[in-house]
Amino acid sequence: TEDSFKQIAKLDGKVQAFLAVTEKEALAKAESLDNEPMDKRGPLFGLPIGIKDNIITKGITTTCASKMLENFVPVYDATVMDKINQAGMVNVGKLNMDEFAMGSTTERSAFKTTHNPWNLNCVPGGSSGGSAAAVAAGEVPFALGTDTGGSVRQPAAFCGVVGMKPTYGRVSRYGLVAFASSLDQIGTITRTVEDNALLLNAISGVDHRDSSSASQQVPDFRAGLTGDIKGLRIAVPKEYLGEGIAEDVKESVLEALKVLESLGATWEEVTLPHSKYASPVYYAIATAEASSNLARFDGIRYGYHPEGAKNLEEIYLRSRAEGFGTEVKKRILYGTYALSADHHEDLYVKAMKVRTLIAQDFAALFEKYDVVIGPSSATTAYEIGGVVQNQLTLYANDVLTVSVNLAGVPAISVPCGLSNGLPVGLQIIGKHFDEALIYKVAHAYE
Ligand code: GLN
Repeated sequence: TEDSFKQIAKLDGKVQAFLAVTEKEALAKAESLDNEPMDKRGPLFGLPIGIKDNIITKGITTTCASKMLENFVPVYDATVMDKINQAGMVNVGKLNMDEFAMGSTTERSAFKTTHNPWNLNCVPGGSSGGSAAAVAAGEVPFALGTDTGGSVRQPAAFCGVVGMKPTYGRVSRYGLVAFASSLDQIGTITRTVEDNALLLNAISGVDHRDSSSASQQVPDFRAGLTGDIKGLRIAVPKEYLGEGIAEDVKESVLEALKVLESLGATWEEVTLPHSKYASPVYYAIATAEASSNLARFDGIRYGYHPEGAKNLEEIYLRSRAEGFGTEVKKRILYGTYALSADHHEDLYVKAMKVRTLIAQDFAALFEKYDVVIGPSSATTAYEIGGVVQNQLTLYANDVLTVSVNLAGVPAISVPCGLSNGLPVGLQIIGKHFDEALIYKVAHAYE
């Protein structure tokens, strides 16, 4: 824990990954852990972790990188925080993100822009950019992020670290500030696959406080890291190596497939016929759910309250006008439109139907193949202030990650080489609750 703070003191002025550093509390906690009996100490005992700032932490500000929650100090812990504590881990602070997890660059934070440790002129990806950058900079060995449409995998790819989006339901969402409830999952960001497996084991499992959490058995993910992937059948969707994917990214992925072949795996080109609809379907569903979830920020119960507002209507209007950033407002508007009486049939309902087709595409592949492999992102990290000017390009770049959330399946991003000094991420997708196999493959490759 002390080393973590040393590294934060040395680097975070440049990287800007943290929104809050909880040094006093963390050192006291680390100290108190010394009294735990040896036989009670699990594999993650005493290890420091950073937490994305949309995960509720008791007594520690949880801002979602929004002015709306700038001074919000929760009175309870998210289930994942209970589990982190049970594992004996030490929370060293809260990590930057795009406001309410809406974005792919961490430039949408209301407070600061996080920089990519590999090249400080580049974004770390997003929305869990603070989590990925903190791990890449060696500030923490473990971080939690959240992934609604790629926000763990894409920043992990941009920062050259390992990021897992578990199966929908694997990890409790209790105490995760909701963006799009049918897509949100908390995910794990680490330097190595083994660390990642340990962290996911620590936070997984059914929780009576989240009715969408799954009662499925949680296997010991580390036990499967044998390096033996002989006979593994890999599907490589042609849409994931086609138009719009940068040449250097394609080359790195093809190289990685060669490595997997040399380990006894075979791969075939396949098709995910509905993947071209994934981004528009995602944006219809995610914004619809967001418009409903974010209705709770009304300037009354908690969060930003405008000074001097004269009546209820003015409180509503001003708290939302002044508390939310532009991207969040845009999405609330899109979502409200998608759910409106005149449009919900053509937008929301249609998107839900195509969502089913996308899920069926994956299910069909998993009848014949063990994993689906492609890049985690169409390019390496963008320059700060570059692409973000063009939000539509950013929405389109989500095509490689959002289908996974729409289908609810698990997927990891592992580093697969560098291009011009920037990391490329390999995405390994598995069937529902098959994280153990994903870890096995990622570990054999790593
Ligand atoms: N980039 C996507 C978006 O902007 C994904 C966000 C996420 O996974 N939280 O919505």
